[in-house]
Amino acid sequence: MSSNKTIVWFRRDLRIDDNPALAAAVKDGSIFPVYIWCPKEEGQFYPGRVSRWWLKQSLAHLEQSLKSLGAELTLIKTESTLSALLDCINATGATKVVFNHLYDPVSLVRDHSIKEKLAEVGISVQSYNGDLLYEPWEIYDEKGQAFTTFNAYWDRCLNMKTEPISLLPPWRLVPAAGTVERCSVEDLGLENESEKSSNALLGRGWSPGWSNADKILTEFVEKQLINYSKNRLKVGGNSTSLLSPYLHFGELSVRKVFQCARMKQILWKREQNSQGEESVTLFLKAIGLREYSRYLCFNFPFTHERSLLSNLRYFPWHADTNHFKAWRQGRTGYPLVDAGMRELWATGWMHNRIRVIVSCFAVKFLLLPWKWGMKYFWDTLLDADLECDILGWQYISGSLPDGHELERLDSPEIQGSKFDPEGEYVRQWLPELARMPTEWIHHPWDAPLTVLKAAGVELGLNYPKPIIDIDTARERLTQAIFKMWETEAAAKAATSDGMNEEVFDNSDGMETSAIPKIVLKEKSSCPTYSSNDQKVPSFHNGNNNGSLNRKRAKFVEEERLPADKLKNHDKEAGTSRGEEDLCSTAESSAKRQSTSTSRMSFSVPQSCSSSEGRPLQEYDSSELKRSWQEKIDLEQTSSKNGAMR
Ligand SMILES: Cc1cc2nc3c(=O)[nH]c(=O)nc-3n(C[C@H](O)[C@H](O)[C@H](O)COP(=O)(O)OP(=O)(O)OC[C@H]3O[C@@H](n4cnc5c(N)ncnc54)[C@H](O)[C@@H]3O)c2cc1C
Repeated sequence: MSSNKTIVWFRRDLRIDDNPALAAAVKDGSIFPVYIWCPKEEGQFYPGRVSRWWLKQSLAHLEQSLKSLGAELTLIKTESTLSALLDCINATGATKVVFNHLYDPVSLVRDHSIKEKLAEVGISVQSYNGDLLYEPWEIYDEKGQAFTTFNAYWDRCLNMKTEPISLLPPWRLVPAAGTVERCSVEDLGLENESEKSSNALLGRGWSPGWSNADKILTEFVEKQLINYSKNRLKVGGNSTSLLSPYLHFGELSVRKVFQCARMKQILWKREQNSQGEESVTLFLKAIGLREYSRYLCFNFPFTHERSLLSNLRYFPWHADTNHFKAWRQGRTGYPLVDAGMRELWATGWMHNRIRVIVSCFAVKFLLLPWKWGMKYFWDTLLDADLECDILGWQYISGSLPDGHELERLDSPEIQGSKFDPEGEYVRQWLPELARMPTEWIHHPWDAPLTVLKAAGVELGLNYPKPIIDIDTARERLTQAIFKMWETEAAAKAATSDGMNEEVFDNSDGMETSAIPKIVLKEKSSCPTYSSNDQKVPSFHNGNNNGSLNRKRAKFVEEERLPADKLKNHDKEAGTSRGEEDLCSTAESSAKRQSTSTSRMSFSVPQSCSSSEGRPLQEYDSSELKRSWQEKIDLEQTSSKNGAMR
């Protein structure tokens, strides 16, 4: 073994197993493992209470594991990550720093700058893929361009020549001596005194830490995976793996998850167990969505020139703080939405389907700025993960070619009967509706007075009336979309040259939840780069087009907008959108791109402009009279259209 000393900088890779940065450092000599907590650098993405609780438990777990292998984890609370790393280098005489990649916009900028600064003082820096099956810059289409739909992306991943492989954990660590100002897990300040009592409950349901993650994975793969295809849409109980917080903090290697599931797939294929095979396919697709979230953030990053969800930049948001409060508190009068929001508040957790329903409700029923919703999720989710959160909000708000259309408005009462047919989920989280018969549980406002009375429900007193009725919500959404188009057309007309257009987001400046404005400036390349190294996004102001505007393929009759207006918009704005979009921005892809990526404009589906289009206003009474089965069938058809569930 050589006498090299390496600083192993842990971030969201809190595990020993299949940790490439740790493995490389161990092979090279002695190691100095460090975790640096710098609240100032977290900015507006400072983690919420439950997420910090998780981190605290997980760090304590990692500390123990490293100790048992022979090395101490040094915990540092600081105002500057760079200066903390330099302190460690000075204290140990290390010549190298290693870490695993992160892809969220905040980390990309920080890591890039740290790498450059360390290189300037002669420290070798090496970074590795510890978070993904494939790096975002490894997956491109035949033309070398970034994929803009999930299915095509995932198909390419599954057909890569090399399957991802996991590394064995080190069995012994040689510590590098050195003393820096360090603190205990408690002193990091991840949990306030006032938060401790609320957090105590979390420990009953969750066991953070990498070796617990391993046990949960094994249990899931051995017992529940086989039924995943059947159970994954059930919103109550443990119908899915519950692995997301472990994956977020890197307590579990995604390569290991992939391999375990693949082994089962091979086995079930041999046994001709079609349900098992389908379950693995769907579970791997879920893992693929997590990969895709990183892929999109890397290949289509948001900047101050191009804000996230830019298709909504002219949307006339209703920044109503009372509505926001009602949504947060689970007092909208829609039982499924309220149950979800109460579960989130109480446990830091929600099923994917419920996340879709409550986020749609915030954006499309209440027209609340999506940034408010996203920030609230960030603050309250146990698995709060910037990339997955961004993907989720993009998916529901018409920003992805294969996500929901912006004008799609699903009724929470119909979704309730589909995803919570017996009303058990609602009863669990809304005790005030516990005695409502199943028939009325998802739409108590339609229930006869005698039924309400017998169930002890007094609408407007112990359970709210709907905050907005569905027909009004549809009408408001339609108007908002038209207004958005009008404003967009006017803005375009005001600028003769699209490239000079001043880009802003209508929701900028609303409360404190602005998304970070990030620019990576071109700089000379870092001397320590190798083939393993993290690529960084870069921006080009050419006419290239890499933004993720949606192409609306399918359209359900229930969700049609008035045809004449849509036709007009198609003429006015439909073709112009693509021209103003910036290029695909992955450094590696930008080099390869000579033409524009995709010219997906904010266009209107063909079917809308046909004479079959029924104006939205006609929906009121006839819509309510439709049979339940008919409505459910319609929604099932429409949900099949989305590639992402
Ligand atoms: C508006 C919205 C916000 C979201 N915010 C987050 C978030 O902050 N953090 C987060 O981890 N997930 C987020 N998701 C995705 C998804 O809801 C969760 O990953 C999933 O519910 C976690 O449960 P599980 O581990 O039991 O999932 P499983 O169904 O068992 O899936 C296994 C793993 O695949 C990944 N995965 C599954 N579905 C998705 C998805 N739709 N998008 C991305 N990855 C997925 C997760 O890592 C998950 O742990 C969000 C979804 C929406 C619609």
